[in-house]
Amino acid sequence: MEHPSRIDGAARTLGIIGWPVRHSLSPTIHNAAFAALALNWVFVPLPVAPGEASIAVAGLRALGFAGANVTMPHKTDVAAAMDSLSDDAHRLDAVNTIVVGGSSVSGYNTDTPGFERFLRQDAGFDPAGRTALLYGAGGAARACALALARAASARITVVARDPGSTRPLHEALEGLATELETIPFDAAQSHPADLIVNATPLGMDGEELPLPALSDGTLVVDLLYHPAVTPLQTTARERGATVFGGLGMLLHQAALSFELWTGQQAPIDVMSAAAVAALSERT
Ligand code: NDP
Repeated sequence: MEHPSRIDGAARTLGIIGWPVRHSLSPTIHNAAFAALALNWVFVPLPVAPGEASIAVAGLRALGFAGANVTMPHKTDVAAAMDSLSDDAHRLDAVNTIVVGGSSVSGYNTDTPGFERFLRQDAGFDPAGRTALLYGAGGAARACALALARAASARITVVARDPGSTRPLHEALEGLATELETIPFDAAQSHPADLIVNATPLGMDGEELPLPALSDGTLVVDLLYHPAVTPLQTTARERGATVFGGLGMLLHQAALSFELWTGQQAPIDVMSAAAVAALSERT
């Protein structure tokens, strides 16, 4: 708690809009980064009830905020309240980062480039020409699918319990060359891929996922970061795959937001240490 005492009247203010925001790691991650770089910035939780997103955006402007992160359930409502959107935010119809500049507000989505940075920098994986099996078709799945398609992935197979729920994902990838197909959960075992991503909450309460054959060249990414280890991660490791949890994507999207707000390179090691410490306090 060293950082908040250094805040003075010239501090720049950021926050995270969500409902609930109580468990968000973003205040911990960003305040650790500000302290490490001795920046006079502060990041606060902003609980905003469902349906109040556009009022909250007006509030950011009125209160002189430099910007904000956005989480569930407001990403789409915030997109509608922006003066301009990045291409990723426009395709996904979802904003996770707001930049307030003068009299205008701009919306970005750093989940997509965050996932790509994680794949390339942390996992050493180049999606070009590779196949992916993606469990889930919600907000996180759409962001990951867009990253893979932009990076010229050959094929994405979406595993969804309701095929109708994948429509927004198909729309987000319109015009991109990657082949896209949807299969039910009971067909996943017969669809091996170079990359497997869990973008569902399955595993949070010990649930298993139906996995295809894995090899030591398969990369398995579970977007869950709490609990730190899920049955998917344990099984995939036992079968020889390279396995990552969701902290990498979380940190890279945070680093990209930090860079949009401050114009400075994010101290990702400091951010990672703060997140790991906060998560270990929770368990
Ligand atoms: P959404 O609610 O937008 O999407 C959840 C997806 O999971 C939907 O496709 C949903 O299908 C599917 N799903 C939910 N429950 C089940 C179930 N019991 N069986 C089969 N499918 C199910 O959530 P998000 O996309 O925002 O988040 C998904 C996960 O990714 C969460 O666990 C979240 O914590 C994690 N996440 C991690 C991030 C990171 O940076 N590491 C970033 C964002 C999310 P249906 O439409 O049928 O309900």
